[in-house]
Amino acid sequence: MTTNRTITQLLKTGDWLDAVLDDPDGEPDLEPIETANLRFEQPAIGVLMITPLTGYQQSIAISAGIHGNETAPMELLSNIVADILSAQLEVHSRLLLIIGHPPAAVAGRRFMDVNLNRLFSGAHKDHVDCYETRRAIDLERIMRGFFQNQGKRFHYDLHTAIRSSNYEKFAISPFGQKLDPAKLGLLANCGIEAVLESHQPATTFSFFSHAAFLATAFTFELGRVAPFGQNQLNLSALQQHLALRIADLPEPASAAPPAVFKVVHELIKSSEQYRLNVDDATPNFAQFKPNTLIEIDGLKQYRTSHQEERIVFPNPNVPIGQRTGLMIEKTYKKTFDFHAQ
Ligand code: ZN
Repeated sequence: MTTNRTITQLLKTGDWLDAVLDDPDGEPDLEPIETANLRFEQPAIGVLMITPLTGYQQSIAISAGIHGNETAPMELLSNIVADILSAQLEVHSRLLLIIGHPPAAVAGRRFMDVNLNRLFSGAHKDHVDCYETRRAIDLERIMRGFFQNQGKRFHYDLHTAIRSSNYEKFAISPFGQKLDPAKLGLLANCGIEAVLESHQPATTFSFFSHAAFLATAFTFELGRVAPFGQNQLNLSALQQHLALRIADLPEPASAAPPAVFKVVHELIKSSEQYRLNVDDATPNFAQFKPNTLIEIDGLKQYRTSHQEERIVFPNPNVPIGQRTGLMIEKTYKKTFDFHAQ
C-alpha cells in the first residue's frame, strides 16, 4: 500500500504514548502504512501491530497499562516504538503492542468500573456493559487475529504493583504452562527473580493468551507503581531482552534462574467474621515461621505448616467469597532441572 502519509502522521506526534493519551477515546486510524520493510496497523486505539514485510518466525504481543496507573511499562513500550521508528531497533518478529486502558491511564486510575485483568477468557460476559468489558472483547478479538499464524507465540503482560515485594521483580505463570528451561531462561534474562505457578485457570490477559493460543505468556510485576515521569525502576534487562527477541537474535546464556513458587493454600474471605492476620504493610513474598496464624473465621483457622511459607497479594478488603491472598512455597526441582540443561 502506498500513501502519502508518514508513520509520524499515523502516530500523530511520533511519540506513540503521547498520541494515545492525547485522544484516549478517539477512533483508530485503520489504514495500514508501509515503510521500506515494515507494515504498521492500528486495530484499536492504543494498539499497534507491526509486521516485517520480509517475513517472520514468531509473533510477540507486549501489553502495558492493563491497569491504567501502572505507568512504567507504558513508557517502556513507547520507547520501543521510538527505537523502531528511528531504526535503532530492527524488527524481525511480528509485533502487537498494547496500551491496555488509555482512559484510566489519562485519569491516573487502576480502572474505571471493573478491573480489566479479570475480564478475559470470556469473563466480560458476566459484567454489565462498560469501557472495560468492551475493551476486553476488542483485545480478545485482536489477539485472536494476531496469534492465528503458525510459529512461536509470546505474550508479555507488564504490570507494576502498589505493594512492596521481597522479590522486586516477579512473574506469574498461567495455569497449565510448563516452566521448562527455555521459559526460566527467558524470565532470568528479563531480570525476574521469582515466578509463581498459578494453581487454577484465571480471567487474566496472560492466562487467556496461554490457554487460547498456547503462547508463552507471563504476567510481569516489575516493581512499585509511580506516576508518569516519576518511575525509577531499572527495566534495562527487560528492555534488552525484548530488543533481542523483537530482532529475533539469540540471547547470551542467562545467569541465575528465578526461584519457582507454587500455591499451598488459597486464603478466602468466608464470612463477616473473617480476619486476615497479616498487617497492611506486609510485602509480597513475606515469609512466616511454621505454625503462624494467618486467617481466622470463628473456629476455622489457617496456620502455616511448611518450612518456608510465604504470602502474595494479601488483601482483606474483598467481598465475601473472594480471595484475600495466596500462601506459597518454593519448589526446588525446577531450579535443579534448569541447571541440568
Ligand atoms: Zn497491574
